[in-house]
Amino acid sequence: MTAKLIDGKATSERIRAEIKEEVSAMLAEGRQAPGLATVLVGENAASQVYVRMKQKACAQAGIESFGYTLPEDATQEEVEKLVEELNDDPKVDGILVQLPLPAGLDEEKVLNTVSLNKDVDGFHPVNIGRLAQKGREPLFIPCTPHGVIYLLKETLPSLEGLNAVVLGRSNIVGMPVALLLVRENATVTICHSRTKDLKEVVSQADILIAAVGRPEMVKKDWVKPGAVVIDVGINRVEAPERKRGYKLVGDVAFEEVSEVAGAVTPVPGGVGPMTIAMLLRNTLRSAKLAGK
Ligand code: NAP
Repeated sequence: MTAKLIDGKATSERIRAEIKEEVSAMLAEGRQAPGLATVLVGENAASQVYVRMKQKACAQAGIESFGYTLPEDATQEEVEKLVEELNDDPKVDGILVQLPLPAGLDEEKVLNTVSLNKDVDGFHPVNIGRLAQKGREPLFIPCTPHGVIYLLKETLPSLEGLNAVVLGRSNIVGMPVALLLVRENATVTICHSRTKDLKEVVSQADILIAAVGRPEMVKKDWVKPGAVVIDVGINRVEAPERKRGYKLVGDVAFEEVSEVAGAVTPVPGGVGPMTIAMLLRNTLRSAKLAGK
């Protein structure tokens, strides 16, 4: 391997230790702990795991977490009513609605209900709108995209003028990552399922962000030598040799891409842990904005 390994796990642990220290100081001064409410609707196994991980991370940092679970057949009104109650609860500084919601629920309407001041996921349309506008600042930056930019800024002295290619245009990863890269003065190309000559476009990238959800799609010959590659993908693939029968891989063929890239994130241990660190950061920020 020639590429530098971008160790998101180590970076996230550092950020989490800083947050823990700040929260301890708040408590020592007799201030209230920051609080995060998680809203899980239904029984999606991956969502249950993600919510548990977030609650555990809160506990480690001294942030209070309040877990709410609604049944798979919860109505739109029930979900929105819960979010409204959390909006009014002073113990709660951040509200995290775990996505995806079960089919039949209107995700956009639910996210619209989250108070702007508690939108620690950064998905409220006003926050996203501000992210897209020059001279405006979102109250909260979405966690995974923020983690991506944080790792890039740790790896490169400047992103200015670099060719950045974002593979994927989802609301939660690709699009906000692209908006953040523009803010860093990178020259940004967004690719998606209709992009022509994908390999050719990707091979122009000084910075490549892969967020497609396709196991190991990005191969060695797609990557410009020396490029910095951030792999957001988390994909389960069969692995009969493993006890649990599967393993997690990214959207990038890690081994072969490591032979040509300048730096690359692993999966797991890259962007994933950064997402949680950024969620804790946003929750702490929200608590401070609320005067705690
Ligand atoms: P998504 O909503 O499914 O979006 C995937 C994007 O990739 C879409 O824009 C889609 O294009 C594009 N795409 C799909 N197949 C393609 C292909 N063959 N060629 C070119 N573009 C293609 O996924 P997401 O929510 O953004 O998540 C992406 C990956 O990141 C997943 O593996 C997910 O598990 C992972 N993820 C990780 C974290 C983390 O914390 N590390 C957080 C969130 C997501 P169209 O728009 O044209 O359909």
